Amino acid sequence: MTREPSVIVIGAGMSGICMAVKLKQAGITDFTVLEKGGDVGGTWRDNTYPGLRCDVPSAFYQYTFDRNPNWSHFFSDGAEIHEYFRRTADRFGIRDHIELNTEVTDARFTDGRWHVRTGDGRTRQADFLVGATGVLHHPVVPDIPGLDTFEGTTFHTARWDHSASLAGKRVAVIGTGSTGVQIVTALAGEVPELVLFQRTPQWVLPVPNWRNDPLTRALRRRFPALTRLEYRAIEQIFSVLVAGMVRDGWQRKLLSRLCELNLRTVRDKRLREALTPDYQAMCKRLVMSPNFYRAVRRPGVRLVTDAIDHVEPRGVVTADGTLHEVDVLALATGFDSHAYLRPIEMVGPTGRTLAEAWADGPKAYRTVALPEFPNFFLLMGPHSPVGNFSLVPIAEVQADYALTWIEAWRRGEYTAAAPSREATERYNAELRAAMPDTVWASGCQSWYLGKDGLPEVWPFSPHRHAKMLRDRHTGEFDSEFEGVKA
Ligand code: NAP
Repeated sequence: MTREPSVIVIGAGMSGICMAVKLKQAGITDFTVLEKGGDVGGTWRDNTYPGLRCDVPSAFYQYTFDRNPNWSHFFSDGAEIHEYFRRTADRFGIRDHIELNTEVTDARFTDGRWHVRTGDGRTRQADFLVGATGVLHHPVVPDIPGLDTFEGTTFHTARWDHSASLAGKRVAVIGTGSTGVQIVTALAGEVPELVLFQRTPQWVLPVPNWRNDPLTRALRRRFPALTRLEYRAIEQIFSVLVAGMVRDGWQRKLLSRLCELNLRTVRDKRLREALTPDYQAMCKRLVMSPNFYRAVRRPGVRLVTDAIDHVEPRGVVTADGTLHEVDVLALATGFDSHAYLRPIEMVGPTGRTLAEAWADGPKAYRTVALPEFPNFFLLMGPHSPVGNFSLVPIAEVQADYALTWIEAWRRGEYTAAAPSREATERYNAELRAAMPDTVWASGCQSWYLGKDGLPEVWPFSPHRHAKMLRDRHTGEFDSEFEGVKA
């Protein structure tokens, strides 16, 4: 028996596009991608701040099925990456399957199918649902007293207001994660006054960037094997580095040493002390920048380490009572990394809701599925290997996994399947046991940590994650649900 599956994918960012292309390549025609924004590209659509660049090499931050020989830089900028994902959607003919400005509000599995409701009140049905909503897409606006009284321009960095010219303006940036560091590096010397409010210093790895010259690009176009080789080489290097830096390997020592040497380039003792973290490198996501320390030393740039007390109409007041007058306030304060699919309301056939399932924090089966939510798959789900690694190969591995289940359904091997609670608990217990030894649990605050203080990222090598998902582990799945005829 063969059947034609219908699939709804939520989100047309990097992982949603990946899933859609893979469905199309598998000959599945009945699929729809529902995207709440007005364009594809997810994070690369939302983030347009000055200095935006991916700190994973472009040669490795791309799909294996759509290698681009024309990347302008080793680390390309945000606009170029966004354009790459838009082009992939066009080249693989999935645009017709994407419905933009269509926000999913709730999804229920009843009568053996997913019933997915969108903001316009419409309900669509499908045999499978794939959540590809990304990890970092709900901006966190800090709870700073008086923030709404500021008379200048305020925005979160993921909602950069390009209508507000920065020419001649005094700009404040709150936050020193990858985003804050990139913005400060880009704006230093470009605006008369730039104030960086740092709550916690970051370790910064000075990885240089370079332009890919026309000859290199021509060679890559002429010999596509070169791009494949480059991808594999960077993948190997990243896998070895990430595997060893998560645990206490030589890689962690090496990268820590490079960060320390970078910090030493700051000769001013007081400034260097202010920029010195009191936790291990890589405990927070490692920030990469070859010229951040140069930027903070430029005339017109000021690092403020006093805690922010409140904001008033003219600027930011720190705990020592100083008013830092500014015209623009950029909130580089990060994202709610624990939201995942929420606020979408999801209900499985047993009546269990996603809110109940994740009351103690998001947990999944092998990063990709949830007990009691049959025929549902997650891309970039809880505990995915998202720390300082390319998310593109991770999305590909997870999409391939979902596809193997969809293919099995097509062959009539089952009607509805979800991982068992026991298997999910066993798997999560294994993750939990591995967490205390990871660098993320070594004593710092970061978006990697869940409500329970334990990291919500993959504690092993990315290679192990890929290997784990090569097998469907069918024995760990339930296939009988209320209202579903086997
Ligand atoms: P983030 O790493 O979560 O950093 C947020 C910053 O805001 C931190 O410095 C935090 O201080 C500070 N902050 C938050 N609330 C504050 C408050 N009330 N007062 C003062 N400071 C406050 O966010 P992000 O920089 O946007 O980066 C998030 C992730 O996005 C990165 O880790 C990375 O995965 C991704 N990203 C990647 C790239 C790239 O090049 N690939 C670029 C940008 C972002 P504390 O440290 O004290 O909490």
